[in-house]
This record gives sequence, structure tokens and C-alpha cells, in this order.
Amino acid sequence: AHLARLEAVDPQVRAFLHVDAESARRTARIQDGWTPAERRQRPLAGVPVAIKDNIVTGEMPTTAGSKILSNFRAPYEATVVRLLKEAGAIVIGKTNLDEFAMGSSTEHSAFFPTKNPWDLTRVPGGSSGGSAAAVAARLVPVALGSDTGGSIRQPAAYTGIVGLKPTYGTVSRYGLIAFASSLDQIGPLTRSVADAQYVFDVIHRHDPQDATSVAAYTPVTRDASKPLTIGVPEEYFSEGLDPRVADRVRNALAVLEEHGARLVTISLPHSPYAISAYYLIAPAEASSNLARYDGVRYGYRAEAKDLVSLYETTRDEGFGPEVKRRILLGTHALSTGYYDAYYLQAQKVRTLIREDFQKAFQSVDVIVTPTTPDLPFKLGERQADPLAMYLGDIYTVPANLAGIPGLSLPAGQVDGLPVGLQLLAPWFGEAVLFEAAGWVESLM
Ligand code: GLN
Repeated sequence: AHLARLEAVDPQVRAFLHVDAESARRTARIQDGWTPAERRQRPLAGVPVAIKDNIVTGEMPTTAGSKILSNFRAPYEATVVRLLKEAGAIVIGKTNLDEFAMGSSTEHSAFFPTKNPWDLTRVPGGSSGGSAAAVAARLVPVALGSDTGGSIRQPAAYTGIVGLKPTYGTVSRYGLIAFASSLDQIGPLTRSVADAQYVFDVIHRHDPQDATSVAAYTPVTRDASKPLTIGVPEEYFSEGLDPRVADRVRNALAVLEEHGARLVTISLPHSPYAISAYYLIAPAEASSNLARYDGVRYGYRAEAKDLVSLYETTRDEGFGPEVKRRILLGTHALSTGYYDAYYLQAQKVRTLIREDFQKAFQSVDVIVTPTTPDLPFKLGERQADPLAMYLGDIYTVPANLAGIPGLSLPAGQVDGLPVGLQLLAPWFGEAVLFEAAGWVESLM
């Protein structure tokens, strides 16, 4: 049924870069032969899933939305993909994204833009726009995305679904094509909070293949018989927030209060600097991670007369404009004479942002904010203005800088377009996040 719907709908939405219907049907037929006992051991038996195309899969191509990897097939499989398959999930294809996950609209894909299923003239958000659109258009119930500065939560908000960025280190990054390694995290995009929890339960495992994977930790819990204490950061309701989004979020907060939540105004004083810090740290790490695309080891290779021009021409022809912009920004921020002024300062701000959250979570269970300051914008609207695109990440990047988990869930609509509510929890507080988000979802 999902494949039939995909065939009918995806030509308009264009969520997928690659679909393998044949192998999906084959796996489904094998699973048809499973006994009820075999099925029970696999919590995702028969569930079709889509994978963002910066996560490597054994049998399918992996492009990261880039021309430089347009002919790339990985010789191994990401840990998350293996875990999903072991749980019985059926991978049906790879979804579109901004090149190397750099962007907020999926328009930076080297192949084509994905459209928002709610309004085909608008963007689905990004960079996991293909995964979000696939779930929102009911082509799959579950998709994986990656979130470096909001790339799961922002497209979830723009397409009216649920998106989870887990605590840094809880989900293996082995097989995720690195953008900014200290910020990148894989997570699910789903229709409901319960579904996100199912998938998280399957993919959060310690993985010795990922050096930053956390081996053991004590999950944060709370006494669920007590009313939920929600922190509302004043800095997140200021200039730059679309008044229609602000209204919707304030209405949602009022409903939560009416149903027994305790709202507390809090301050996250360094959040206004998060965008500046993020757009130094992420490009700095990216410039280093992307050095490996040299036309020699794998991927696209340009014609060239000698080695240096092979590197230069391959990278010039293989990378799109946004990726080049990030490499230039990142190498500049790391260069002698500028390192202290930019990169080091950004790292200090990052510490202050982390401390803001540490302090806030001493007195609240979760923090609630808008996921985005705006509504899904028109295709093409921000393509000529990279800074306008960057500013849209204002509410999502702090969680990545701090490493805390964040979840976006639908909070109704404005002018026929979905609005997202973001819930943030302390490090390893996924249980609290799911409990709170499930409750909020039931009231929206
Ligand atoms: N929009 C942000 C960026 O362009 C975040 C991307 C992401 O989370 N992968 O960097």
C-alpha cells in the first residue's frame, strides 16, 4: 500500500532520491512467512522506513544530495540501518536532502527540491526535507533524518509531524556522512510521539564503532504524578518571531496551563548568540570533514592533467554553492590569526549556552519554544539570501550546541500551514521528553 501511494504521490512531492520497491517486496514476502513468535521479537516487523540519503545503506546508493557522491555506493551499512532491519523494518528508499545536510529547505540538493505536501509551492524545510515530506505525505510511517542544527525538528514543524533529535551520543553516527561531528545526531521523523519513541528504543544502542557513542548512562526521569513544570524562555519570544506563530504557541501554552502544567518564565541569556556560534563551529568542522572528497578515494572525479588540478576541478565541479560557502567560512574561521577571534570565541559561547540549560533544568522538567520563528516559506524565496535562511535556525541550534534532546510536534495550523512546538529536555532526558510530548500531543 505504501509503495502504491509512493508511486502515485511522489512525482509531485519528490521526497525520494532512490526507491527499491523490488527488494522491499522481497523482504515483505519473507516476513510473511514469519511465525507470530518471530514477529513478536521484532518491534518494527513489516514497517516501511525511509532513510535520509546521508546515512549509508549497503544495497542502495548514498549521495548526501551531492554531485560529488552521485555514483557512490558505500561498502558498509550504518549502525542505525542495521538496527532497524534487525527489528524487522523494511527500508524502501533514500530521501532527498540539502547537499551534505547544509540548509533549511532541501533546495540545496544537487538533484531537485522537495515540496511541502501541504502546499506544493512551499519548501518542506531541511535539511531532512525528503524524510519529513515522505512521512507527512503518508508515503512511509517512519523516516530517519539527521539533525546538526535543526534538520529533523524544523522540517517536522514545517510538515506537521513529529521529529526527535536525541541526546548527543545516544544514537550511533557510524555510517552517517559527517557534516559537523560534534553536533550531528540521527533521529526519527514520525506521525506521532509514540512512534518516535518506538524507533528511538530500537536505534539507541551503544556502538563501539562510534567513538562518541555513550556506553552507559542513567536516564533522567521525573515523578509523573507531579504536574509538569514547563520553562518558557523569554528570549525565544522576541523580535523576528512571526506574530502568527507566536500566537499559536502562546495558545498552546495556555491550553497546557489549563490542564495542569506549571508555566515558569525562564531566561536562556546566551541563546541570542547561538546562530553566530553555530555558523562558525558547524562550517569549521565541515571544512575538515569535507577534505576527504578529493576525487581520488571515492565519488565523482573530474578530468584533469595533474594531481592538484584533479583535486581542484573535482571539488569545484562536485560541490554546490552552499557547500563551498561553508568550506570558505570554516577554513577562514580556523586559520592562523582568525582562530582566536572566531572559532575560540564560538566555543566559549557554546559553553555558556550549555550552562544556561544546565541552570534552567534545575527548576523545570522541560522547556517549550516555537520550533521555528516562521511558517514554511515559498520555494526560491530565500535562495538568494543565505543569511535569511540561517536566521530561521535560531530556536533549534542551541540544543545541538548543548547536546540536549529536542522534539518538535504539531501545534495546529496558521493559514492552512502547520506550526511546530519544540520541547527540550535535559541530557539523557528522553523518557521525560516522550512523557511530556505525548501529553502535549493529546491536548493539541
Ligand atoms: N539549517 C542548518 C544548517 O544549514 C542545520 C542543518 C542540519 O541540521 N543538518 O546548517
